[in-house]
Amino acid sequence: MMELRIQLIPTGEIILPPGKNGENYCHNCRVVASDGVRAMMESALTARDRVGVQDFVLLENYTSEAAFIENLRKRFKENLIYTYIGSVLVSVNPYKDLEIYTKNHMERYRGVNFYEVSPHIYAVSDNAYRSMRTERKDQCILISGESGAGKTEASKKILQYYAVTCPASEHVQTIKDRLLQSNPVLEAFGNAKTLRNDNSSRFGKYMDIQFDFKGAPVGGHIINYLLEKSRVVHQNHGERNFHIFYQIIEGGEEDLLRRLGLERNSQQYQYLVKGNCPKVSSINDRSDWKVVRKALAVIGFNDDEVEELLNIIASVLHLGNVQYKEEEGYAYITSDTQIKYLARLLGVNGTVLTEALTHKKIIAKGEEDESHKDASVIGLLDIYGFEVFQHNSFEQFCINYCNEKLQQLFIELTLKSEQEEYEAEGITWEPVQYFNNKIICDLVEEKFKGIISILDEECLRPGDASDVTFLQKLEDTLGGHPHFVTHKLADGKTRKVMGREEFRLLHYAGEVNYNVNGFLDKNNDLLFRNLKEVMCMSENKILTQCFDRDELSDKKRPDTAATQFKASLAKLMEILMSKEPSYVRCIKPNDSKQAVRFDEVLIRHQVKYLGLMENLRVRRAGFAYRRRYETFLQRYKSLCPETWPNWNGKLSDGVSTLVKHLGYKPEEYKLGRSKIFIRFPKTLFATEDALET
Ligand code: ATP
Ligand code: MG
Repeated sequence: MMELRIQLIPTGEIILPPGKNGENYCHNCRVVASDGVRAMMESALTARDRVGVQDFVLLENYTSEAAFIENLRKRFKENLIYTYIGSVLVSVNPYKDLEIYTKNHMERYRGVNFYEVSPHIYAVSDNAYRSMRTERKDQCILISGESGAGKTEASKKILQYYAVTCPASEHVQTIKDRLLQSNPVLEAFGNAKTLRNDNSSRFGKYMDIQFDFKGAPVGGHIINYLLEKSRVVHQNHGERNFHIFYQIIEGGEEDLLRRLGLERNSQQYQYLVKGNCPKVSSINDRSDWKVVRKALAVIGFNDDEVEELLNIIASVLHLGNVQYKEEEGYAYITSDTQIKYLARLLGVNGTVLTEALTHKKIIAKGEEDESHKDASVIGLLDIYGFEVFQHNSFEQFCINYCNEKLQQLFIELTLKSEQEEYEAEGITWEPVQYFNNKIICDLVEEKFKGIISILDEECLRPGDASDVTFLQKLEDTLGGHPHFVTHKLADGKTRKVMGREEFRLLHYAGEVNYNVNGFLDKNNDLLFRNLKEVMCMSENKILTQCFDRDELSDKKRPDTAATQFKASLAKLMEILMSKEPSYVRCIKPNDSKQAVRFDEVLIRHQVKYLGLMENLRVRRAGFAYRRRYETFLQRYKSLCPETWPNWNGKLSDGVSTLVKHLGYKPEEYKLGRSKIFIRFPKTLFATEDALET
């Protein structure tokens, strides 16, 4: 009889720790144990029905969306928020603190094979880390999902895992602290309360963690994408501006506020009153300020730099309170109180600033480049998921374009890695049918005839160019495209379900109507030249870093927002393509931020947008299960007299003998160089069941 060490975690899920030599297959297992633990196990093993499968590839009815969602529901009910699709981790936001992120949990996942333990974000983190160490290949972990689905929390869990489990030295501790402390700072400046998430990231983030040859973190690098700048001046009802403003006002020391010329009342500031939402019950601005102030020091800002940074933040609030009046077509500033503060805080001449605020010269803003160092790297991508609202504008267009690109990368990399594994194992690759969304990427980004090109053309065209002429151009150029739809029908009538200012894109994840209002302005992203000149003259060093003097002399018109975004996405794709990816797909269980509630309609949408069914289908198109020979033999050798208690010949012969004895049909499995591939879960379940009898 086999000896097994069984560990029952409180949720009723069963983890079988590995035998001496390798993995156990632990999904829905039926196992033999000594009589003493048999009764306990039996009750736990009936959990198979209760907790569902921990890898969707084991769903018998794998094409059924209903079965997929039912499996998620079962697991969510048992607080099992993580489930795999092969190596992709699906995570459902529990909206409550679960006791699954302790140091003990980290230890449990450290250095252990993916399948030996129940699905967890730590398993993904550990797997990426070990692949980086053993295969010396850079890794990236791509986290996606809609707002509030838990992407940022997942990225923090990954960072914490590395901070705790990676080797450390005194120097490394500083790096670890900086990595961890970068989060509160980024969140203070880039996160805000929205209707969907009290701590919503209003930017995409790619973070590299660099490791030395000992596997210790030695540095990090962060690139941000498409910050929602418009939030600084406008917030929808029930939403707030970026956290930092409230933190300073609520938590800033008296003398700091005096220096900044601020009052301890956020409602005094025009930029903070629009959403009518000064306080949020889940947020403590005062204590958050302390965390952020400390984090700024840890990540390397000295006191003078912090002061300069806060001067800029305060000046934004003062700018919002500057009052203008119009006389005979000219703008005037009615009071110079704010201008005095602004001149001091920004280190600029007040008269020049006033002139710049009331007169126009036009120039747009460029973007900083990033560089990469030569070290082993794990990249973390925490970026906005596919978005569909009632009203979709330029921002949703960019975000959804970004998701098309990521989907394209996913297709290429997933299929590529499947294919590579089959080739490495000497197994014939059978092409998988899937929808290739390249056609949609091209529709958006192709030179001359893509949507971005047409938009840029309208932005640059002098004369009567407007959002409406842009839409017309789209219709003329792309009217017959299979993924582009306008309200115009071929017979000259109009489509009722669409507005006249809208165009519709048929994205891989679904249809979205975009309203063209504001597209040209947002794409131009103009900053008046004389304002830029004033900022360049500032004595505030941080400000002069943001406004590069060299750009002023550059006669060339800077790229538009969409073109900049396209270029930064292309760069991101290049970075990600050079790495081995892991995926975390986050799902939000309901719209009311509640624990327990499993809103099936909402979840079905996300399963669709995240392309999970397609993902599962591709994964199952080949073989559902694959294991190294020694692992397979170790687990099942007791089922065949010729392999029990030990097989002394070649491992592949042992496995071949074993599966023939078990009656596997030739179409059910294939033997590769080092692994057995089993096509259907039921074959494996039958073998697992045989262990019991
Ligand atoms: P956005 O796109 O708006 O930035 P997001 O996907 O980054 O959204 P998070 O900010 O990570 O979403 O999560 C939203 C909230 O959900 C968190 O503030 C937290 O309250 C809760 N949450 C997310 N993941 C977990 C988790 N694993 N355990 C407990 N609570 C969680
Ligand atoms: Mg976030």
